[in-house]
Amino acid sequence: MPNSLVIAIDGPSGSGKSSVARAVATELGLDYLDTGSMYRAMTWFLQNQGIDVTDAQTVATLAKAEVIQPSVDPSEPGIRVAGTDVSEAIRGPEVTSAVSAVSAIPKVRELMVNLQRQLAANSKSGIVVEGRDICSVVLPDASVKLFITADPEARANRRAKENHEDVSATKTELAKRDLADSTREVSPLEIAEGARVIDTTHLELAEVIAQVIDIARAARG
Ligand code: C5P
Repeated sequence: MPNSLVIAIDGPSGSGKSSVARAVATELGLDYLDTGSMYRAMTWFLQNQGIDVTDAQTVATLAKAEVIQPSVDPSEPGIRVAGTDVSEAIRGPEVTSAVSAVSAIPKVRELMVNLQRQLAANSKSGIVVEGRDICSVVLPDASVKLFITADPEARANRRAKENHEDVSATKTELAKRDLADSTREVSPLEIAEGARVIDTTHLELAEVIAQVIDIARAARG
């Protein structure tokens, strides 16, 4: 992928990073990879086999990268597990409540990080990759590194509206996931060195998208 633009975006749930990443990819004609959907799909794959997903040893034995098939087309995002479209199923409460435990297992991270690097390296157009450890671990040499965040209240309100859920239950669930994701031993959610922080609490989505497009264009030169 010589000379093409690689935009790495990290941040917590509900920060707006997925909407921003997808819109920026569409506007700049880049591929788009939602790495959270990969950890969710892996969780679905394991749950579908009826195993206890908190059992790290069993998870490490059964986890495989080749069944996780994400789309990198921003106009048709989604993900398949061994050919089955799980794009909707992975947003349900069963996967959401288990995904942080699965993503903390080193073997799972190793498999997903390798696959993410491979997908980025195979991108001809350049790519926007979003997640929790993209700037710090997956693509530390990305042309643009961003950390998109917002205060917990704003994030819970957005997520609840998006999923038609109760705000206070969503806030509790997000806080639990934030804590698990930022305190785990392997690749915790953190602001990577060299990442620019964008706080979207008081910004409209369109303003954030415009800001990121400006940053990306400046990086492309
Ligand atoms: O972004 P999303 O909320 O869909 O991510 C689901 C979960 O996947 C996160 O809560 C986190 O546990 C995990 N994740 C991760 N590393 C990434 C992306 C997501 O550990 N790069």
